[in-house]
Amino acid sequence: MYTVTLIPGDGIGPSIAEAAVRVVEGTGVQVEWERMEAGMIAAEKFKDPLPPQVIESIQRNKVALKGPLTTPVGKGFRSINVALRKEFDLYVNLRPAKSFEGVKTKWEDINLVVVRENTEEFYAGIEHYIDPAKSAAETIGIVTKTGSERIVRYAFEYARKQKRKKVTIVHKANIMKFTGGLFLEVGKEVSEKYPDIECNDKIIDNMCMQLVMNPNQFDVIVTTNLFGDIISDLCSGLVGGLGLAPGGNIGYKVGIFEAVHGSAPDIVGKNIANPCALILGSAMMLQHMGEIEAGSRIEKAVAAVLKEGKKVTRDLNPRSAVTTTEMTDAIIKKLL
Ligand code: NAD
Repeated sequence: MYTVTLIPGDGIGPSIAEAAVRVVEGTGVQVEWERMEAGMIAAEKFKDPLPPQVIESIQRNKVALKGPLTTPVGKGFRSINVALRKEFDLYVNLRPAKSFEGVKTKWEDINLVVVRENTEEFYAGIEHYIDPAKSAAETIGIVTKTGSERIVRYAFEYARKQKRKKVTIVHKANIMKFTGGLFLEVGKEVSEKYPDIECNDKIIDNMCMQLVMNPNQFDVIVTTNLFGDIISDLCSGLVGGLGLAPGGNIGYKVGIFEAVHGSAPDIVGKNIANPCALILGSAMMLQHMGEIEAGSRIEKAVAAVLKEGKKVTRDLNPRSAVTTTEMTDAIIKKLL
């Protein structure tokens, strides 16, 4: 029996979290879920968007499954997603993007993994207006040698373990000569220790164009925080959208698994959210816990439902009237 912290989140979070819990239960892996409230819900209830009991629960269990949490735009409390990454030093954000048969997209056979640095640069929250009139503002992005080294090393170790062939370092070192320059320099140094894995680098703007035009030339992509956030949404678009993109936030001790997407306020309460991203996030979580077979059974069940294309939500088929619950039921049936 495992104990896992479950943060259902807000917006579409609770409905897709419930779906993921049901699918994990369907694998037969015994999980006791410690349910926790964070973000907007906790801010209202406890006057604290990240109450101490949430931190304590994750600290104790070492593993969490998290639904999306809304972050107020331009005001209000800072992102709880970012706060959790900082609190547990979850320096890796692993975001795979894989084609599924049956999902109509421009490209086929995509199998990319974005390894995003998750703790530094523009997400560190060092920002302010420079004058009382708020006529200008600055955000300071700090990139360190240690931070760059460990994320690039993780990307190469991951590539080696997963029998992947190539790592692409993505940066903007032509303009941000110091932060981008340091990341690239350290990245190249690390790559020399992995002669069995091909390494190249790309400037972010060219990288975006190349990803849209010819994504299959890439394999593992390692990059800084902001570029990684943007590129991983782009990659999810290549394989069918945010409804299919899971993510893992991984540190030395703790792993928090989630969907790449947010709380989707435009579709809340309609039971039409695609549950697959968080379900695939739960598969990543099980694999992280050593339940490799259960994780891959979930991936296969999701793939089977997508291939049939009948019980899929409307983001995948605009004429579909299939609900989140029905798609989840179909996935659970395929687990058997
Ligand atoms: P979003 O990812 O919530 O939504 C973008 C678009 O994708 C919307 O049209 C939405 O309907 C659609 N979409 C997202 N998930 C879907 C799903 N499972 N099924 C079907 N369609 C789906 O991005 P946003 O609207 O920019 O952000 C909303 C809020 O979520 C913001 O407060 C943002 O800060 C937060 N957010 C949280 C996380 C996280 O918790 N890790 C990640 C990204 C954004």
